[in-house]
Amino acid sequence: MTAPRRLLARLRDLMAHGAAPLAEVTRLLAGELVSEVCTIYVQRPGDILELAATEGLNVAAVGRTRLRVGEGIVGLCAATAQILNLPDAQNHPAFAYRPETGEEPYASMIAVPVRRAGRTLGVLAAQNRTPRRYSEDEVEVLETVAMLLAEILSATGAADGAEEGVGATVPRVFSGIALAPGIAIGPVVLHGVRPVARRLLAEDPAAERARLHAAAEHMQRGLDQLLADGLPNGAEDTASREVLEAYRLVAADTGWLRRVEEAIAGGLSAEAAVQRVAGELRDRMRRITDPYLRERMADLEDLAGRLLTALEGDMPRQPIAPGSILLARRLGPAELLDWQQRGVVAVAVEEASPAGHAAILARALGLPAIGGARGMLDSAEPGITAVVNADDGQLILRPDAELRQVYERALAARTAQEAGYAALRDRPAATADGTGVTLLLNVGLAMELDQLDRTGAAGIGLFRTEIAMLARGEIADIGEQAAMYARVLDRAAGRPVVFRTLDLGGDKLLPGSEQPVEENPAMGWRSLRVGLDRPALLRRQLRALLLAAGGRELSVMFPMVATVAEFRAARALLLAEAKRVRPAPAGLRIGSMLEVPSLLWQLPAILAEVDFISIGSNDLMQFLFAADRSSPALAGRYDLLSPPVFDALETVLQQANAAGVPVSLCGEQAGRPLDAMTLVGLGLTTLSMPATGLPAVKALLARLDLRSFRPVLAAIRRNADGAASLREPITAWAREQGMID
Ligand code: PEP
Ligand code: MG
Repeated sequence: MTAPRRLLARLRDLMAHGAAPLAEVTRLLAGELVSEVCTIYVQRPGDILELAATEGLNVAAVGRTRLRVGEGIVGLCAATAQILNLPDAQNHPAFAYRPETGEEPYASMIAVPVRRAGRTLGVLAAQNRTPRRYSEDEVEVLETVAMLLAEILSATGAADGAEEGVGATVPRVFSGIALAPGIAIGPVVLHGVRPVARRLLAEDPAAERARLHAAAEHMQRGLDQLLADGLPNGAEDTASREVLEAYRLVAADTGWLRRVEEAIAGGLSAEAAVQRVAGELRDRMRRITDPYLRERMADLEDLAGRLLTALEGDMPRQPIAPGSILLARRLGPAELLDWQQRGVVAVAVEEASPAGHAAILARALGLPAIGGARGMLDSAEPGITAVVNADDGQLILRPDAELRQVYERALAARTAQEAGYAALRDRPAATADGTGVTLLLNVGLAMELDQLDRTGAAGIGLFRTEIAMLARGEIADIGEQAAMYARVLDRAAGRPVVFRTLDLGGDKLLPGSEQPVEENPAMGWRSLRVGLDRPALLRRQLRALLLAAGGRELSVMFPMVATVAEFRAARALLLAEAKRVRPAPAGLRIGSMLEVPSLLWQLPAILAEVDFISIGSNDLMQFLFAADRSSPALAGRYDLLSPPVFDALETVLQQANAAGVPVSLCGEQAGRPLDAMTLVGLGLTTLSMPATGLPAVKALLARLDLRSFRPVLAAIRRNADGAASLREPITAWAREQGMID
């Protein structure tokens, strides 16, 4: 059952006459629910909820009783945007007693958030003397009325004074995590927060049902088309055909459409009914922790959006202001591409992690992006100014003039710097005194190979093959993998590429994978360990790599090698595949990553086996210092520029040089200019790094007089005296030389 037509008809009449007295709404609703109390709280400036109308409580409390967002049951409902259905409200830990309301006799309470376009405008509540849970039917009635109430509040401006409403001027800063670096300032566009349906109620359910069916068919045809066309710009790496196929199946599932039909039968327009069901999905999604199920629910929510678009007809897409900043609760890879093509220059996503699809793509496209900035959508309006400072993981809404200026200056400085980098791009990387350095890129998607030309990198020092698999949610078959890797080699156009075999596990999990639950996944069954225990999986990847090479040069390296025996076993699989694949690669180079400290004590043996070594300083640091690399609490606690790391690197370099084995370093820190300068000072001449770091590294190295730096670095090391980090004296020297500000 949905809200009875009688009630909706009365509310429609009220709305048709312009101002709808909130007291009248509470009276009608209390009658419908057979509840003794029905109240409406409206959100006011300063995160305050004010009692705006009541049936059953003391009317003198209207306009007087105020709760902060987060305070009391009503405040908790507003803060979490969730329904609270409580048989014994007064013993709930959040209950806040307000004597002026006279609510002592009422045991049970239900509070429903009143939301519009992603913002909380107030709370609708009902109370009864007898302890009881409100039934599903009653919850539905309340949800429908809350939706109408949202319209009434925004039409009458009752909640317009809310701090975060249209016209608010207070800046708000949201902290999240950096997904892709950079700074942008621009007007906000909102993804997935659509204008609320204009027409909420309809008199002819049959006509609404017919509109719904036509729209559903239209949407289905659109998805079929999307599948038939494939995705633009080589995005097939990320938003895989399978992902879209699964999405299309969800779309064809009739269960949720039936729920929409039920809402139509209750008197809602097709648009309002879809929004109702989407709202329910959103509520359910909040309670789901299983990542796979969350993805499916997110697909459904997204489909509701598409269905609304279809219901609105094929209206031309509204153009967006150039330089816009996209704010989204969640974002799929195809959607991100679409927005980028429409002119979006930065994104902030409420629910996204660095390994998520949106993050991977944002990095590939060079869009500054932050994730995890919760609550931002509640404060945002389309068109307001926002700053994305992805370097520090911050989103600022409505920056004041001063803040704006700070970021405009930062942007201008960055643009000038980038112009300087562009001039350096085509010059070979070298120190000021002529030592050549090879600067390579760390990438994970074929589309990121555009960065080779943009940065002038000499090649790819680390191609993380697992990234594309993570983006598509499963491991591709041999043919698809071979096509993917061949595309990488094609786009590298002769520049060297080092493919690293799958480094899954730890924090890089495929949905539904058989990964065991482990106390310390970073040190668990991950990476090459999985490959050696599931040799068929690793062999398929190795064959795909050999096929992709198709007679060209091929470099393969294995991650997380802890023993020489592991390297030998992995290499044996590669060589066995190499015997079968024709044409054979012009040259096959097989290397090992050095990221597990145990290898430091097996150097002569491993160096005798490998064609090259690549130091994975992200993991090596984590294991050397026993410091979880993904723990924000430990970020920056241990330094690459420290005596133990220098000693370890020096040992590797000395022994590798003696054995004639090339060494590179491919951790993220290679992309930080001062770190890169120091690594070169220690004797490393091949560094592989994220594209964002390369121009600045190249620029700083071009100013480095290596001959003077080497003895300085040696002296700094000699005088270390137990220091945890040598960053300060190294920075001081670079500053003295005028190399950095
Ligand atoms: C590393 O550990 O330094 C590395 C380059 O590999 P990843 O960051 O992919 O673990
Ligand atoms: Mg690693």
